[in-house]
Amino acid sequence: MERVHNFNAGPAVLPEEVMREAQADFFNYKGKGLSVMEMSHRSKDYQEIIDQTYARVKSIYGLGDDYDVLFIQGGASMQFLMTPMNFAAEGKEVNIIHTGVWSKKAIEQANLIGKKVHVAASSEDKKFSYIPKGYELSDNPAYLHITTNNTIYGSEWQIDPEVPAGVPLIADASSNFMSKPMDVNRYSLIYAGAQKNVGPAGCVVVIVKKDYLNTINEGLPSMLDYNTYHKAGSMFNTPPTFTIYMIGLVLKWIENFGGLDKVHQHNLTKAGYIYDVIDKSDGFYKGHVVAEDRSLMNITFRLSSEELEAKFISEAAAKGMIGLKGHRSTGGCRASTYNSLPLPAAKALSEFMTEFMKNNG
Ligand SMILES: *Cc1c(COP(=O)(O)O)cnc(C)c1O
Repeated sequence: MERVHNFNAGPAVLPEEVMREAQADFFNYKGKGLSVMEMSHRSKDYQEIIDQTYARVKSIYGLGDDYDVLFIQGGASMQFLMTPMNFAAEGKEVNIIHTGVWSKKAIEQANLIGKKVHVAASSEDKKFSYIPKGYELSDNPAYLHITTNNTIYGSEWQIDPEVPAGVPLIADASSNFMSKPMDVNRYSLIYAGAQKNVGPAGCVVVIVKKDYLNTINEGLPSMLDYNTYHKAGSMFNTPPTFTIYMIGLVLKWIENFGGLDKVHQHNLTKAGYIYDVIDKSDGFYKGHVVAEDRSLMNITFRLSSEELEAKFISEAAAKGMIGLKGHRSTGGCRASTYNSLPLPAAKALSEFMTEFMKNNG
């Protein structure tokens, strides 16, 4: 059977080459007589795998020795808790730019552990259909937290924001991690759940400035303290070994693709096919986000009624295009067009959208 065109928001499509390489390695990894899944994380063979994944994160983003890369479980959802727990010192406020469902969860988790939260800017007034163009920090900001791509509403930061000297910038980059060049040096910490753009579920990749780790609050539980992962090379306990291996394969695929500039071009082309149809549809498809802030990763749109949306989704599925239903909190339609989504899939969707409009307009 043919593979479907997979527009799932996460876990999401992975590159065919990666799946085939993993399949070849699966039963007997490079002639070692066992699967990666069966290896001790303390073995030399596994150390090579995690070292390579680490090195690839650094080389793709061009990171220097001043940054560390950590692999942590618990999802991006646990990062909502860890960031305030580690970096909001007594008397300082967590500053968050509120752009959707995920930033709301970041606010909630900081509140839950008794941290003071200041919403530095918000796009809630217009149903999160844009990225705020300015922000106001509180008097004593611990840091500023942004969500670089809003997976559910479909908005994306087009720039890496500037922050005043001395204010660390933290980003939840789960859904646009490694999708385009990024000025990582502006950020003190970036985290990304792997299952959107760089692998299967089970691991968060954290990029952190080493000197930022010196500011961590004391007395934290080991598993919730970034320094635990930093000091132990992400092997204080058993890491998600197979997921880290898969991330390594996806990163090798990105390198072979030509790096982030090439990946970005590819993503622009794919999203362009679909946005073009929306823009030329005379309101048949209504994009949720203002054009200048639209995401290259998650394309959100509505049709004139829920019935028509249901028909659209089911006819698309019949043509082998799956995952087009919007998030349960927003409804509508969403096409996720992550790095690994092949060009023909985006093309097929845009053609189907044009045809569907003709038949139902
Ligand atoms: C998916 C997602 C999350 C949540 O990730 P989990 O791994 O399910 O905890 C958080 N932030 C963003 C931007 C996401 O896309």
